[in-house]
Amino acid sequence: MDLFEYQGKQYFARYDIPVSAGGAADTVDEAVTQADKAGYPVVVKAQVQVGGRGKAGGIKLANNADEAREHAGNILGMDIKGHLVKRVWVENASDIAEEYYASFTLDRSAKKHMLMLSKEGGVEIETVAETNPDAILIRHIDPVDGITLEWAIQAAKDNDFPEGSVAGVAEILVKLYRCYTEGDCDLAEINPLILKPTGEIHALDAKVSLDNNAAFRHPEWDEYRATEELDEREQLAREKDLQYIGLDGSVGIIANGAGLAMSTLDVVNQVGGTAANFLDIGGGANADVMAAALEVINYDQNVKSIFVNIFGGITRGEEVAKGIVEALNRVQLKAPIVIRLDGTNAEEGRQILASAGIPESVLQSKPTMLEAARAAVAIANGAGN
Ligand code: GDP
Ligand code: MN
Repeated sequence: MDLFEYQGKQYFARYDIPVSAGGAADTVDEAVTQADKAGYPVVVKAQVQVGGRGKAGGIKLANNADEAREHAGNILGMDIKGHLVKRVWVENASDIAEEYYASFTLDRSAKKHMLMLSKEGGVEIETVAETNPDAILIRHIDPVDGITLEWAIQAAKDNDFPEGSVAGVAEILVKLYRCYTEGDCDLAEINPLILKPTGEIHALDAKVSLDNNAAFRHPEWDEYRATEELDEREQLAREKDLQYIGLDGSVGIIANGAGLAMSTLDVVNQVGGTAANFLDIGGGANADVMAAALEVINYDQNVKSIFVNIFGGITRGEEVAKGIVEALNRVQLKAPIVIRLDGTNAEEGRQILASAGIPESVLQSKPTMLEAARAAVAIANGAGN
């Protein structure tokens, strides 16, 4: 789950990372109230989950209440790269001597946490990576060992941070790492991390992505959930309690078990198709879940065929079949289904499907995963059109 900047800053503050005093506002009047509270000059910042807000006109400095009113009026309702600004964050403006970059994220291939640190902050890190890759220091961290202040000091020194910044940057790295691990983040990024003319190091922006798998131990995340911006398909899937991730392809995928769902994506790719989604209906899914899954997939305009790949263990074939029949009664499917049904009670399931009188143009059954993938991809790629 991605947080807005103001939420990220609130999250940082829990770990004692210095951020500016400020407040969120949904209206111009609220923005002025927050500006008065924060103390002038203030920056009025569009809260959208996309970078480059400054360049797009979504970040403005205001020296007094009139200017705060004017900027908030312009920024609220603004469209930034397809994101509508519904909220602004107003904070006391900082003086900047230098802009740095710091982040922790997981390097899955190395199976370690990873620090990225650079003196070239304030611009997107992808740009720095392209134009000046040597300016980014990358250090892996053993998740068991973690980091120490000495380690962080060395990292800053190795990246030639000015002597006056090293201690302050290192201190923030230790706090940011704590936020990242104890706070269960997938990403904790500060860009820019600023050096003030007074010598203090301070987080001027926050990009935090939380690991949804850890949500059970963070009841405080509920408030972030309330403002989360999902794509419509994902929203619908969440309402139906499905493990769904939207993708860009044309073959809708329903499988039981995350491993089988991933293999299904692979097989679809292997035979020349592209998956429209990942959807795991889990073990023991009943007819209701199956119907809900088909509804979510059917919502996706790009789906040209639906590949239902079930290997029944605790999921029973007749339940899956009943779900499909029920879904076909409930929703007008826009794409045909190709099903591979195997495992527990598969025969009963196939019989239910066969006796339901569903035409071949709506549903076909294939005996193996590969054959079903070929059939689904052939339909999606327009065979017969
Ligand atoms: P982003 O461009 O969407 O990542 O937004 P940021 O929050 O990173 O802000 C972009 C830029 O605006 C920063 O790199 C700063 O140069 C500038 N900026 C933001 N806040 C302040 C502030 O308090 N004072 C000053 N002087 N500049 C700021
Ligand atoms: Mn930024």
